[in-house]
Amino acid sequence: MGYISCMNKSSITRRGFIGRLSLGAAVMAVRPFDLYAGAKRADKPLGIALVGLGKYSTGQLGPALKQTSLCRLMGVVTGSREKGEQWAKDYGFPVKNIYSYDTMQQMAGNPDIDIVYIVTPNGLHATHAIAAAKAGKHVICEKPMARTVAECDSIIAACKAAKVKLSVGYRLHFDPYHKELMRLAKEKDFGAFTTMTGDRGFIMNNKPWRADKQLAGGGPIMDLGVYIIHGACMAANGAAPLWVTASEHPKTSPEIFTDVEEGMNWTMEFPGGGICTAQTSYRHSADRFRAEGNKGWIEFKEHAFTYRGMVVETSRGPLSYTPPNQQALQMDNFADCILSKKETPVPGELGRRDLTIIEAIYEAAATGQRVKVKP
Ligand code: NAD
Repeated sequence: MGYISCMNKSSITRRGFIGRLSLGAAVMAVRPFDLYAGAKRADKPLGIALVGLGKYSTGQLGPALKQTSLCRLMGVVTGSREKGEQWAKDYGFPVKNIYSYDTMQQMAGNPDIDIVYIVTPNGLHATHAIAAAKAGKHVICEKPMARTVAECDSIIAACKAAKVKLSVGYRLHFDPYHKELMRLAKEKDFGAFTTMTGDRGFIMNNKPWRADKQLAGGGPIMDLGVYIIHGACMAANGAAPLWVTASEHPKTSPEIFTDVEEGMNWTMEFPGGGICTAQTSYRHSADRFRAEGNKGWIEFKEHAFTYRGMVVETSRGPLSYTPPNQQALQMDNFADCILSKKETPVPGELGRRDLTIIEAIYEAAATGQRVKVKP
């Protein structure tokens, strides 16, 4: 399923080929809410409040919340009242559910809101996630979870103390191509993946918050490299690397990258001998990932970590799935976990794990040493 063809076409019977296609089509036609048809239904969908109405909320999460069935947009936290009112009109929630960053703790008394989704710059995640937990709301925190492991710990502790669930916006766990990567890693279909490579970058010509250490926590390793780190851990069947080495790219635009790296090369050494060699940068465009075992390989050739347009090949043939709405699946899954009292597959601990690796990468780049990842 999903594999277009791994054999010579003439060796596939017409019936088998069509059967395979129609089964594939049936799977691909599944709508997000059908996947949760067996889940305990709420009388009404859980209410989500988005914190930060920037590009990701506007372009992806808001529209995705029109496709979810177990949760819906019921409020916003924004610095602009006017923007909030426009969102209330567009999404049909009451204006009483518009909060500012300073008043978000008042959500505590608002039963319309069950989940608070933090979509502000990385440096504000801890403050906003902790405020949401203290208001007694379940929390989704965007990636990277925070700037440091210590901040991740404080978010996890606040959610535990408030007895609310915490998840990270790792939407690719709900993407069929990445699910196939996880399946291959688990079942060792291609053998254990021992050689991995990744490259992710885009060209940044101005200085937004993403190039500001205080707000971003670092440069492209925080924003983009985290995808390769996470993908490599998926390919390692959930294991974290034991050791890393790293070197920062020389700065070609020091006026933009004053206190963060412009690019980074790094390697991760996994238990069992698997190695991932990767780079990330704000000075070139790339979005690729490859994992190879002794019996085969999978290569995300284009748009490896984005929402759609993935081009994925394997030693068994190309993979083809109709891209679902990853964000709708992710948010419905979290709502289902809350309603069914289940563990989320993307808990805060996964976001924290990735920060332990990022901290080791920064230390390796600064010291030139091979650095042990501290779990
Ligand atoms: P953005 O700059 O477009 O939006 C950030 C929002 O935060 C804006 O509404 C801004 O007004 C608000 N904000 C509040 N306080 C701010 C401050 N002090 N400085 C700057 N902005 C402030 O950013 P974005 O692309 O929407 O990213 C937001 C978060 O979402 C980041 O953590 C990012 O890594 C994450 N993200 C995740 C994905 C994904 O695919 N999972 C994609 C894009 C972004």
